[in-house]
Amino acid sequence: MRAVHIERYGPAESLARVEVPTPQPAADEVLVQVQACGVNRLDLLLREGRVFQVPLPRIPGTDFAGTIVAIGEQVRDRRVGERVLAAPILSCGHCGHCLQGEDNLCQAFGTVGSSIDGGYAAYARLPARNAVPVPEGLDWITAASFALTYATAAAMLRRGRLGAGESVLVLGASGGLGHAAVQLAHQAGARVIAVCRGTQRGEALRAVGADAVVEPGPQLAAQVRELTGGQGVALVFEHVAAQTFAQSVAALAPQGRLVLGGVTTGTEATLDLKAVFANRLELLGCRGSGRRDLDQVLDLLARGRLRPHVEQVLPLERAAEAHRRLESGTLLGKVVLTL
Ligand SMILES: [Zn+2]
Repeated sequence: MRAVHIERYGPAESLARVEVPTPQPAADEVLVQVQACGVNRLDLLLREGRVFQVPLPRIPGTDFAGTIVAIGEQVRDRRVGERVLAAPILSCGHCGHCLQGEDNLCQAFGTVGSSIDGGYAAYARLPARNAVPVPEGLDWITAASFALTYATAAAMLRRGRLGAGESVLVLGASGGLGHAAVQLAHQAGARVIAVCRGTQRGEALRAVGADAVVEPGPQLAAQVRELTGGQGVALVFEHVAAQTFAQSVAALAPQGRLVLGGVTTGTEATLDLKAVFANRLELLGCRGSGRRDLDQVLDLLARGRLRPHVEQVLPLERAAEAHRRLESGTLLGKVVLTL
């Protein structure tokens, strides 16, 4: 089958077009003929190999959607011909955390497209419990564009205990994760301040729920204070990390919370410890998402309450271009590859 895999860690050119044997599903797996595969920041981090590494070669692609074409002998609840999308988080499925839908706390935590091969390929194997039926009427491109970002955003907002009427500052709001967070926070009844460059993208964010839009930079915290009557925000939604962290902490109100769910610009930052203890701040880490978060966003999507935005659709063969496009930071929402 045709596929694109990471042969060695490095720039977008490290993605190689290859012909590899079509995989066969194990007893508890399904084989999916991939129709579309979303491109995520996670794919870029994996390809760079700086934040984490896995054995290579690896076929990336956490978010994909397609048709089941074969099932393992133990699979009872999925059938051939079913339209499914990949639930991004791998977990054991039977520990206490998994049973509560907190799969990201499972000892067996992993991610489709990094712990196992993903959707940059004509076919992909998937544990049957990770094959989730596509909501009625949803097209392939949309089905492959939202699971990782929306479920992660939902998990982060839950971890940050965002409540109705509270203010939230969303960093990197024009990217896939930030764009999802703006919509989910708005749905939750929060006042959303989105951080993004460019007037056009700012307008697009207002259209999906941002109450105010500010530019990133050294003046960010001061602008946020101005917008919140000098208080600062109750919650910061942070995933840009190194470049923005100091301003994010400075933008918090007394007793504010910062939830960190990604490290796009690097893993080290300076922390104002005086601000943390004097203002009684909470710093909350959040890795991945649980099945309950995915269920929540699937439900909102099926009811037409969310609007995933796909900026560009490219054929699989142009995966390197898709990575460069994401790296350029000029996108709103997502790039999706088609097979
Ligand atoms: Zn588990």
